[in-house]
Amino acid sequence: MKNTKTQKRKGEFIHFSFVFLAPWRPLQFVNLGALAVTIKRTHNEKLADAPIWSVVRLRCIIMPMKFLTISRVSKTFDAAPVLHDVSLDVARGEIVCLLGPSGCGKTTLLRIIAGLEQPDLGQILLEGRDITPVPSHKRDFGLMFQDYVLFPHMTVGENIGFGLKMHGWTQTKIDARVEELLALVDMAGYENRPVYELSGGQQQRVALARSLAPSPRLLMLDEPLGALDRTLRDQLLVELRSILKQLGQTAIYVTHDQLEAFAVADRVALMNAGRIEQAGTPETLYLHPVSAFAARFMGMTNILSGTINSLNPPAIETPLGILRIAAMPAHLRPGDALQIVIRPEAARVARRASAGPNHLTLTLVNRSFRGAHTLIQLAGPGEITLAFEIPGLGCTARPGEQVHLAIDPDAIAVLERTSDAQRDAS
Ligand code: ATP
Repeated sequence: MKNTKTQKRKGEFIHFSFVFLAPWRPLQFVNLGALAVTIKRTHNEKLADAPIWSVVRLRCIIMPMKFLTISRVSKTFDAAPVLHDVSLDVARGEIVCLLGPSGCGKTTLLRIIAGLEQPDLGQILLEGRDITPVPSHKRDFGLMFQDYVLFPHMTVGENIGFGLKMHGWTQTKIDARVEELLALVDMAGYENRPVYELSGGQQQRVALARSLAPSPRLLMLDEPLGALDRTLRDQLLVELRSILKQLGQTAIYVTHDQLEAFAVADRVALMNAGRIEQAGTPETLYLHPVSAFAARFMGMTNILSGTINSLNPPAIETPLGILRIAAMPAHLRPGDALQIVIRPEAARVARRASAGPNHLTLTLVNRSFRGAHTLIQLAGPGEITLAFEIPGLGCTARPGEQVHLAIDPDAIAVLERTSDAQRDAS
């Protein structure tokens, strides 16, 4: 095969590109990608005496450095595959949540990132450097688990300062750090209290302070609030996010609870049977779930099959009639089969039936008042069931009665991917 260089004509630039780290530490959050469009082919006689800038060009492209890269990680336990080719990036200062049902591999992935488990295949890169073989204690990562209990015979201050003492900090420095962290977790003045006198929420604050004490490069939290009741968990989640953001702390948070993930994360990686089903901001996952699995995990059960009726306006033919939607993915054509999800807040109860698009008449199966909304479950033709949240007391029909609904096109999303049946079922 011909060398591409020999195909170049005289006078043409030859491109070389390479990437290197910024040499100055405060700048090391970027890659300096020097794209050197170098060396005009100098055997051109006329160029031999040309000034250097006419034959050499150097451009510097500054690219944000991925702080942590999980690259194509796979793991098998006892011949059972647990992680399949998982890749994910985490930016500096970002809080990424690993979300998914029990057994999907969240903790295994977290343990691989922490260095507590080795992947069979793939790498973990930190600021571009492969840390896969680096032992856990040399990674400077912090861990906080649900059952990461405090030492009961120690005071709050001793618990927080324990790791710092192991690292050889002086007592004066430890005391100052403990005071700083207690103020951060809103427990100033608690340093001499024994931990058994604390409430569950206070113990979790101390555990957080302890994991933050050595300023870990990455903080990993595995269901840290799982043992707390919902109200306390909601309150602590808001505080936890605010503390991590205040510190600019990069964190990976594991949970099976979608509301918890949305409350704490900048970005969520939804896992399904050892794979990343979808990664994105909470808004993206909620507004544009890519598959039926993702939609169901976000609490959306109104999934319908249909075919494209029209591209302009975008409309779908479903067993319930024509539904207009806000936007159609560009690659789809009229007649294509697809699945859609209708979000639970999409429906408004109408006084009377209408034949127009996005108007449905369905039979009420169940109605349950939930405070801010009324949950209604409805049946349509062909054993289709749908559920909607109607604000306040917005539906007063009784089971068996017909309900007329108008569906908001903005609240219908096309599912771009069909999860394979086995993964979907798990
Ligand atoms: P949960 O939310 O219930 O903690 P998870 O998503 O964190 O679940 P993992 O704990 O990563 O899931 O487990 C994934 C699968 O790997 C499970 O089937 C589990 O039984 C298996 N597994 C995890 N660790 C081991 C191990 N050390 N040896 C054998 N199997 C394991």
